[in-house]
Amino acid sequence: MDFTALITDWYHTNKRALPWRETRDPYLIWVSEIILQQTRVNQGLDYYLRFVKTFPDVKSLANADEQDVLSIWKGLGYYSRARNMHTAAKIVMESMNGVFPSAYKQLITLKGIGKYTAAAIASICSGEKQAVVDGNVIRVFSRVFGYREPADSTQLYNKIRLKSTALMELQNIDSGTYNQAVMEFGALWCKPKNPLCDLCIFREECFAFKNSMTEMLPTPKADVKRRKRWLNYLVVIQNDSFLMQKRSTGDIWAGLWEFPCFEAGKLFSVDEMATEFEIRFGSSIFPKLIAYEKDFRHLLTHREIHARFFICKISDNKHIPAYEPAEFIPFNSLNALPVSRLVEGFIQKSGLIPGH
Ligand code: SF4
Repeated sequence: MDFTALITDWYHTNKRALPWRETRDPYLIWVSEIILQQTRVNQGLDYYLRFVKTFPDVKSLANADEQDVLSIWKGLGYYSRARNMHTAAKIVMESMNGVFPSAYKQLITLKGIGKYTAAAIASICSGEKQAVVDGNVIRVFSRVFGYREPADSTQLYNKIRLKSTALMELQNIDSGTYNQAVMEFGALWCKPKNPLCDLCIFREECFAFKNSMTEMLPTPKADVKRRKRWLNYLVVIQNDSFLMQKRSTGDIWAGLWEFPCFEAGKLFSVDEMATEFEIRFGSSIFPKLIAYEKDFRHLLTHREIHARFFICKISDNKHIPAYEPAEFIPFNSLNALPVSRLVEGFIQKSGLIPGH
């Protein structure tokens, strides 16, 4: 089986037309690769177009205010990606003469660029024979070649990287096209569920198909153990504004805006939250406090977040004592503010801002 020739031929006929496939500019490829980590292509496309329109080159990104970079990222989640891009852009300007690198050795030194992203950029932009290994590649190789190691194991990763590099070197093919072909094939045909085996170019030789093991390969990852956290949010509304504060660094959602948050070993009752409110704002101005009808469960890679939102509306003329570091943010300024997906989800579901 000539794996590389078959899959690159397939790619030329079946690939989706996407803007980052029309360029070999390492900055643009980098932006697309970072956005597409943990994000589906359909969703990532709009973000990519907005990002490169706002920051068309590494210099404009390096010179931007961090809040503006985070605002563009709003809704994508995993904000550390945007923050790392901003840092990397500054390093390129300061230490690499403002030229975004396309060589693996340089790329891998930049913040937020791991082996996968460095291999993708280097293979596409400078033709280096660097094999990319992502979830799609793992699925295709596990099924076609019958690899049984768990999908998240270093053993499988190394095995695929070596095999894929050897295949590239054997045929001396365009490594960027080949890498993209394997990923695209995994995304469109050799899908996790209902792969298109009946049409497949590998069906005669595919290990999984011949052995009726497409459902079993790749071997599932071990269950991720997530640490549970309980967040109680106080949603104070006054004069079409929310009381909000910026999360501090060194924790999840660093630098993003949210409602005053009280983390505890559980979700509070209304009475418990009322006590917290009194401590912060004084009982003399105590308003009616209600819990939002539904609690939220939000999964991050290593965390399981449980959140309850408590809402209190304060009349427009009521003065509340200053509560550092929170400030009132008008509803119509919220779009420009980076917030976590959890907070965004609450704002949308609660209907507190008509039309949001
Ligand atoms: S035959 Fe099925 S499982 Fe095998 S490579 Fe093709 S789509 Fe994937």
